Amino acid sequence: MKLRFLGAAGEVTGSCILVEADGLRFLVDCGMFQGGRDAAARNRRAYARELGPIDFVLLTHAHIDHCGLLPRFARPRHGAGSPPVYCTKPTADLVPVMLADSAFVQSRTVARDRRRTDLTASSPGRAKASRFRKAARAQATETPLYTAEDVRRLATRLHGVPYGVEFRPHPQVAVRLHNAGHIVGAASAEVRLADGGRRRTLLFSGDLGEDSALLVRDRDPPPAADIIVVESTYGDRNHRSLADTEDELVAVLHDALQVRRGNVVVPAFALGRAQEFLVLLYRLARTGRIRVPLVFVDSPLARQSAEVTFAHLDAIDEEAAAFHAAERDRKLPFTLRYTESVEDSMFLNSIRSGALIVAASGMCEAGRVRHHLRHNLPRSDCAVLFTGFQAAGTLGRRIVEGARSVWLFGETIPVRASVHTLGGLSAHAGQDSLLDWLRAVPRRPRSAFVDHGEPTAAHALAARMARELAWSPIVAEAETTYEI
Ligand SMILES: [Zn+2]
Repeated sequence: MKLRFLGAAGEVTGSCILVEADGLRFLVDCGMFQGGRDAAARNRRAYARELGPIDFVLLTHAHIDHCGLLPRFARPRHGAGSPPVYCTKPTADLVPVMLADSAFVQSRTVARDRRRTDLTASSPGRAKASRFRKAARAQATETPLYTAEDVRRLATRLHGVPYGVEFRPHPQVAVRLHNAGHIVGAASAEVRLADGGRRRTLLFSGDLGEDSALLVRDRDPPPAADIIVVESTYGDRNHRSLADTEDELVAVLHDALQVRRGNVVVPAFALGRAQEFLVLLYRLARTGRIRVPLVFVDSPLARQSAEVTFAHLDAIDEEAAAFHAAERDRKLPFTLRYTESVEDSMFLNSIRSGALIVAASGMCEAGRVRHHLRHNLPRSDCAVLFTGFQAAGTLGRRIVEGARSVWLFGETIPVRASVHTLGGLSAHAGQDSLLDWLRAVPRRPRSAFVDHGEPTAAHALAARMARELAWSPIVAEAETTYEI
């Protein structure tokens, strides 16, 4: 059997593992690379890459770094058919929403870059200064990878299956999906197959959540497996406890909204984090610990994600169900507005005080949050509150690491707002929690791989696995084929 990590090895995005056994070939996830100057070019290369025939795809969840390149299978190409994609039912509902948004963002980015290239051509002075950078960027994004039509076609290949029920994506293979407790629909995949006359079980963790998460139900215990691939986003650290996180949030909101009388901008992933943050606000406002005059969710994608998330009541946590009921019955302890149009979004720029603005993207690489940062970062009475992992090379990471100024919309924006990171609100398990999941595996696997982590995180988790579980984990390297 062969395993090849086509992404999310030495980094946290671009998840895609190619598995080959006895003539069978399938993928686990097919995600986009995010963050860093070369992300667009890497996605372009990955999208165009010849993978050969693929029998099926197992998709762990609907975050774009796991599903963002799936439309490569929208049409048969290079003589190969388009493989079916298996995932949970909530994921099958979310993927078309996420991919349609991705297609839209790509078309807008291409249009913007074209305009920029035209502008550059008409002002030779500037052209000289940044000719190479602009040319590279224009080349990297000259056409979108896929369109809304491709997304519609891909959606017909999605098959939603329930957690815990065995299904056969291929006559040689049996699969069960287990709740990974990360976002609604997120799964770990247990795969049983024949390999050279032997039966083998593989377990792909997907992204694992913390058991204290407020949005989705706690993850299932892992099954036994011969080969385990585990994520390591937070493989080198633990999160703060939920109680500490609540205290921290209470302090930040009080200071920015009531003392300094500014706004608070919360960059959040539209899917998962935005909803979880609202549940946390609800929990604190209901008990009178915070006073938030106005909460805006400035992300149509977050609204759509919320609709799908709360439609799957069996998959969400009690606290989230209570929030949903209060919202539906108009009994929330704060005013919550979802802004749709660009005009409504721009109106938020005129609010000077008392607004809490939740907007995507979570790492500030795209989306409406960039406008809110432009208006609020230079103001010392405002706060920016990060709620999730900031990958290397992203604008979010630069702000978190204390940049004095950032480059936004062609100008230098000073950072005078206070910057905070909520330690305990990650949708990803911290180091101890990853170890707990691994410890719960019923028997020692023959092989274990650590992926989906920056090198220090992946190696730190592998070191603890070796020390405390006596496993011999391999930190996955990109583009390396492992024969097992
Ligand atoms: Zn994820």
